[in-house]
Amino acid sequence: MARPKIYVSRAVDPSVLARLGEVGETRAWDGEDRCPADVLTKEIADVDAVLGTHRWTAAVMDKAPRLRLIALTSVGFDMMDVDAATTRSILVTNTPDVLTDTVADLTFALMLAAGRRICEMDRWLHAGQWKNAGITPMAWDIHHATLGIIGLGRIGSAVAHRALAFHMEVLYYDTVRKKDLERTHGYQFVDREILLRESDFVTLHVPLLPNTKGMMGAAEIALMKPTAFLINTSRGPVVDEQALIGALQDGRIAGAGLDVYEKEPVDLANPLLKMENVVVLPHVGSATEATRTAMLDLAVNNVLAVLQDKPPLTPVNPEVLSRWRK
Ligand code: NAD
Repeated sequence: MARPKIYVSRAVDPSVLARLGEVGETRAWDGEDRCPADVLTKEIADVDAVLGTHRWTAAVMDKAPRLRLIALTSVGFDMMDVDAATTRSILVTNTPDVLTDTVADLTFALMLAAGRRICEMDRWLHAGQWKNAGITPMAWDIHHATLGIIGLGRIGSAVAHRALAFHMEVLYYDTVRKKDLERTHGYQFVDREILLRESDFVTLHVPLLPNTKGMMGAAEIALMKPTAFLINTSRGPVVDEQALIGALQDGRIAGAGLDVYEKEPVDLANPLLKMENVVVLPHVGSATEATRTAMLDLAVNNVLAVLQDKPPLTPVNPEVLSRWRK
């Protein structure tokens, strides 16, 4: 029987290709980062599996008549038309859990940096200025503040766990109530309006879905305290960026910490990049050596499992498996 063909659409270590080579014939993108869309559509014409995160539309999938598996190297799958994949009996896998703590660390770092004005003061001192006009800059406490978490899933819960060590009061809103976490850790489930009104820091951890797109719009941001901060390490379009820019420009909230943007790479003229009270990062939530390695390992293990007719470790659309059996 012919060996399955695997396309690795991002730059990887040769050891990854050697592992995949045990179950199939591999080809890989040999440039930086990941291959451009036009290369992907050509390379997938004859393959059974692809390892890599891209904008996977129905039209792209239709360029790959043999494709059975898309192994994403991310937990979020908003860039992926999962329904189109399911219709075509293509299994999709993602990389949950292995990045949870790393993204939670970064979320906390953004909260600390924005609240304590760390980046702003770092910029002053790098520019040779001890204190701005000799005045000690005042910041905001994180300890004992109220943290509002929208989306208490894997990453949201890990952020909440860190907040306990800072003696923060944790409010959360989620479409699914987490009563066990309420009981064990004292988190309070509140409706979104109360969370926005009462929190000193609001942090977003929902996936990007049609009903979460723009969920932090002008009306929601207007409910926040003028001393509150918005932290976003989920996906950019969850926040209406123009509404956020307006609120920050008018001083209606104290600041923000952002890892993600409506458009990525972010437009360098975006006013958010010029605001002293906004800490900005270039979508690096999971970017530590250890975590990126673990994410890639999980994606590879998904390919190895599926191509050896074993159950995938982290399927997004497991219903496809029953179609394969028919
Ligand atoms: P998860 O599925 O474990 O948690 C998401 C939570 O959001 C769930 O509890 C879910 O019930 C809740 N939710 C869904 N829709 C909601 C709604 N309309 N209102 C309120 N709550 C809602 O996911 P996770 O592993 O915690 O990851 C969350 C997101 O973080 C990912 O989807 C991804 O977009 C993002 N992420 C970003 C980075 C980064 O580099 N910045 C890295 C990893 C993940």
